[in-house]
Amino acid sequence: MRRISLVLIAIVLLVGAAAAQMQQKTLDIYVFDTEGGESVLYVSPNGETLLFDTGGGNQDANKRDLARIATAVKEARVQVLDYVIVSHNHGDHVGNAADLATLPMRNIRQYLDHGPFTTELQPGQRAGFERYLAVRNMARARRAMPGEVISLGPVQVHVVASAGEFTSTPLPGGGGTNPLCSQHKPKRDVRGVENDYVVAAAVRFGSFSMIELSDMIWNQEMRLVCPNNLLGTADVYHTSGHADEWGSNPVMVHAIRPRVAVMNNAAVKGGHADTFRTLRSSPGFEDVWQAHFSMKNASKADNSPEQFIANLEETPGHVGYHIKISARQDGSFTVTNGRNGFSKEYPARSAAPAATR
Ligand SMILES: [Zn+2]
Repeated sequence: MRRISLVLIAIVLLVGAAAAQMQQKTLDIYVFDTEGGESVLYVSPNGETLLFDTGGGNQDANKRDLARIATAVKEARVQVLDYVIVSHNHGDHVGNAADLATLPMRNIRQYLDHGPFTTELQPGQRAGFERYLAVRNMARARRAMPGEVISLGPVQVHVVASAGEFTSTPLPGGGGTNPLCSQHKPKRDVRGVENDYVVAAAVRFGSFSMIELSDMIWNQEMRLVCPNNLLGTADVYHTSGHADEWGSNPVMVHAIRPRVAVMNNAAVKGGHADTFRTLRSSPGFEDVWQAHFSMKNASKADNSPEQFIANLEETPGHVGYHIKISARQDGSFTVTNGRNGFSKEYPARSAAPAATR
């Protein structure tokens, strides 16, 4: 009897120690510089991983971005990509989907996407998808469903849109009416309709939340927050559409009230002055972190101070530095600039003001 109770005590202590260790660990998020494309690696505290989009475009861009992903895969000691989400089939997102098997790791378990390429079958548009299709037919791959939740241990990835369909279930903490909806001004949009089909997600870890809508357009963003805000609030907003003017509808941004935005812009793509204004006028907003200095669509004064910008150069062949977010279960997080190591700590919402080092 005594022996059994000792064993039980030992088990309780071990489980407690494991839980404590788990609590100390962070969800690490690497936002790669894909020069105006998109690729984000999520590494959960339990080691499970998600790669959201693969960067690339033409052959040179594919090679460049795959090398940048490979560097982080080694740094984070990733052995398996548990999930790869291909948000849509434009080259700057699907570019390397066919080449991930060449990364220095053991396995890719599951691809998720919005399904086949439906509308943009012009030869100039479909090269990335055709290459991915060859892999997709052999791999475990399926359509992501709006409303489904993918678990990476203690991290939940809520799929909020896919193939032009939207979740109808509010995320935990969401669902309230959004008083901003009457201010929605539809925008005319004539660009590729692939953007209407994106797989979009909210990533939650305890009290921490990040919104990731890929290239969702202005008019569609409204559907996630009107008449009810299904997304709730977010700590980090990864800007839609490379922070260009056709995304980041204030009706959505000001409803999710991000503390921090991370822009996947390039020197001459996205990073629009209007988006900077929308972000900075959002209640409780603190900082814009940028993949690149934005030259074409914004003035120098619109850009953040240099320490918040991962890449100041635009010459081909420059080193592409990432932005890293380390999030904790209490909602606090640290953002680090891969270029200079500058990092800023964002305490949990109710805690003391931010300290910088
Ligand atoms: Zn894009």
